[in-house]
Amino acid sequence: MSRYIYADNAATTPVSEPVLEAMLPFLKEEYGNPSSIYQKGRAALAAIEHARVQTANALGCEPGEIYFTGCGSEADNWALKAAVMALAKKGKTHLITTVFEHHAILHTAQKLERLGCQVTYLPVSPEGLVDPADVAAAIRPETALVSVMYANNEIGTIQPIAEIGAICRERGVWFHTDAVQAVGNVEIDVKAQNIDMLSLSAHKFHGPKGVGALYLRRGIALPNLLDGGGQERGHRAGTENVASIVGLGRAIELACDPAAIARKREHLTPLRDRIIAAALELPHTRLNGDPVKRLPGTINLSFEGVEGESLLLMLDLNGIAASSGSACTSGSLDPSHVLLSLGLTHDVAHGSLRLSLAEDITEEEADYIIETIPTVVARLRAMSPLWEKIVKAEQ
Ligand SMILES: *Cc1c(COP(=O)(O)O)cnc(C)c1O
Repeated sequence: MSRYIYADNAATTPVSEPVLEAMLPFLKEEYGNPSSIYQKGRAALAAIEHARVQTANALGCEPGEIYFTGCGSEADNWALKAAVMALAKKGKTHLITTVFEHHAILHTAQKLERLGCQVTYLPVSPEGLVDPADVAAAIRPETALVSVMYANNEIGTIQPIAEIGAICRERGVWFHTDAVQAVGNVEIDVKAQNIDMLSLSAHKFHGPKGVGALYLRRGIALPNLLDGGGQERGHRAGTENVASIVGLGRAIELACDPAAIARKREHLTPLRDRIIAAALELPHTRLNGDPVKRLPGTINLSFEGVEGESLLLMLDLNGIAASSGSACTSGSLDPSHVLLSLGLTHDVAHGSLRLSLAEDITEEEADYIIETIPTVVARLRAMSPLWEKIVKAEQ
């Protein structure tokens, strides 16, 4: 089996050739510390500032509003923890977020709760969408921050970010969005969308792992998460990961070019919908997440009577790399909190499969996925006592 289709781009993406090329000099001869005043230092600093411009251009903000971080998770931690640190003295210790955020948000919110904050976890609809009216209703005088993810990493649903941003701006509440899955998939304009803070991560759009950024609207003073040296204009200590920041800049420039976003959407949407339609021909199969308001390459299906991990192993044997909401390997027997938030039972959630397609997937590769899924599902169902029960119940 020589075929290998990598369909787990929501987990991470390969570094692209132009990104690697941009990075290499900074892993070799351009090794200067950006804080040093001699030529090699100044070259490194200039490269970081260029990446800041590239990042700002992609989001529609000023370079001075971009802060590089060690990952998307760090940007999320910073936004939530620092918002509370900044506003607690004004008595604002209430956070609003949603039940289906990434763990970088959820676990941070839970920790803040243990430290005395109040947190409202908004529900989502069965299609995986947040209702802006719920956000409006949850805002209190003591609300410090609203944090709603731009696009969900498991089911791919795209949230009404501009509507939520408008509500927060009108009510004078800071609005943060975890846009790690959205960057490179949808056009983002933080000013038009009234976004105050936004997290992103390079490795989700063909940049390197271990580098991210927080957009922080000018005028919002947040305390630091990392204290120490004066890097990032005194807001994020630690000698900069120069090569990775350069990689992030090049990757976001390529990924967020409006033509690239349009090309990706136009190529992937029909393939995505063809795979979904073919899978839904199988009995006791459902699509998780809104059929339309979703990322162009993200598919999440549940096959009743099937165990997600077995499905992944069988797909892997057939040359397809995918992911599941049933992560026994993560050490937890509970299925994904995202799938449960949609109202799925544990059994159904355990039979879930996430395929996240790359922009260069071919029609022929999509056909191979379409042929392989029914075969694999049928084979697993034939061995499944749970499936036997489902079939018996129908007779
Ligand atoms: C991947 C991801 C993160 C974490 O980013 P890292 O750079 O891996 O820390 C956060 N939020 C979402 C939605 C993600 O998909």
